[in-house]
Amino acid sequence: MISVDQALAIVLSPIVPLGAETVAIESALGRVLAEDVLADIDLPPFDRARMDGYGVRASDVIKAPVRLRVIGEVAAGATFDGEVRAGCAVKIFTGAPVPHGADSVQKVEVTETDGENVIIKEPVKPGQFITPRASETAAGERIAERGQKIGPAEMSVLASFGYAQVETGKRPRVAVLSTGSELVEVSALPVGAQIRNSNSYTIASYAEQAGAVVDLLGTIEDTIQSTCRALLEASEDRDLVITSGGVSMGDYDLVKAALEEIGAEVYFDKVSIRPGKPTVFGRRGGTFFFGLPGNPVSTSVTFNVFARPAIRKMQGERSPLLPMVRAALARAIKDASNRRSYLPARLYVEDGRALAAPLKWGGSSDLVAFVRANSLIVVPEDVHEIPEGDLVEVMALNDL
Ligand code: AMP
Ligand code: MG
Repeated sequence: MISVDQALAIVLSPIVPLGAETVAIESALGRVLAEDVLADIDLPPFDRARMDGYGVRASDVIKAPVRLRVIGEVAAGATFDGEVRAGCAVKIFTGAPVPHGADSVQKVEVTETDGENVIIKEPVKPGQFITPRASETAAGERIAERGQKIGPAEMSVLASFGYAQVETGKRPRVAVLSTGSELVEVSALPVGAQIRNSNSYTIASYAEQAGAVVDLLGTIEDTIQSTCRALLEASEDRDLVITSGGVSMGDYDLVKAALEEIGAEVYFDKVSIRPGKPTVFGRRGGTFFFGLPGNPVSTSVTFNVFARPAIRKMQGERSPLLPMVRAALARAIKDASNRRSYLPARLYVEDGRALAAPLKWGGSSDLVAFVRANSLIVVPEDVHEIPEGDLVEVMALNDL
């Protein structure tokens, strides 16, 4: 059986970014940059006042108090055309450009005015309360890089440097399907052996969060004909098809057989992971397929370990893997499995220290226990017991 790392390498190696498209800044949040962001102007674009007060020549105010003649004023958005000569001052407001001749600002709190003149009551140092032109960023500097996800800070940079439009990675088109003759719609009350289809919603929401454009295609009966038909239909114009269920060893586990039947190449159908061993990955033409196991916790774990990095890479994300954190174990773990385990956990900070608490769960079908999970504790193949307080690797399910 292949390891998680081998499986991930098999998943990521044939996947290439889908290419770029231009979007308006209004739609850029959450997308991935497909170009470097360069500063088109200096920031600040001029020597800028940091305080309300008076623009002065520091050489006039080596000692204080000093009386200076007020020759004008300049507010944010305005400019002062004249020059501040010796013995003069200009009233200035935060954010305004410092006038020619002035090299410092004194704050209004330590001044007094009689209209025509101002008395500066404390001495100033050259450059005081001025943010010099280009001191934050010089025009031409590279501010953000291709492959970076666009969050609020990147939005602010795009806006500052004139990116009304920006090149971003195309979002993968993903179809989501659930197999299982026992499944009924959310609006139905399950009777007898029926259960509600929750996995489609789990997968669709994780996929959307990862940046995909998702179509929910409903459920498939456990017959080879309907599975083949549904997979074929789903693959049309899609970059990725994700199914749940139908990948174990039972007579009604038909996803792998159906993939082969429709001419897909199946790259693997088992991985040394717990939960989630029977995960299937394949490809037909330009469409990739994940057959995730049907037990809801297995579905969530295998989506995050395998499918999420795939979706991120399709958008050109530079680091498609989920962030790993080291945290101290809040409670001892026993884990008999020889596969690599991903245990639902709560990652939190206490007294400045990252802690990971494994959650009590009733096995891979216990989706309600998973609600409290924000991370997965990774227990290596050959480790079967970890005492409280030991450092463990934790996969964060949310962006850090
Ligand atoms: P399977 O992998 O098809 O054998 O399914 C394993 C278990 O997961 C079964 O108990 C199913 O009822 C459950 N299951 C399968 N598909 C879903 C789904 N879409 N939503 C919720 N549970 C499911
Ligand atoms: Mg099934």
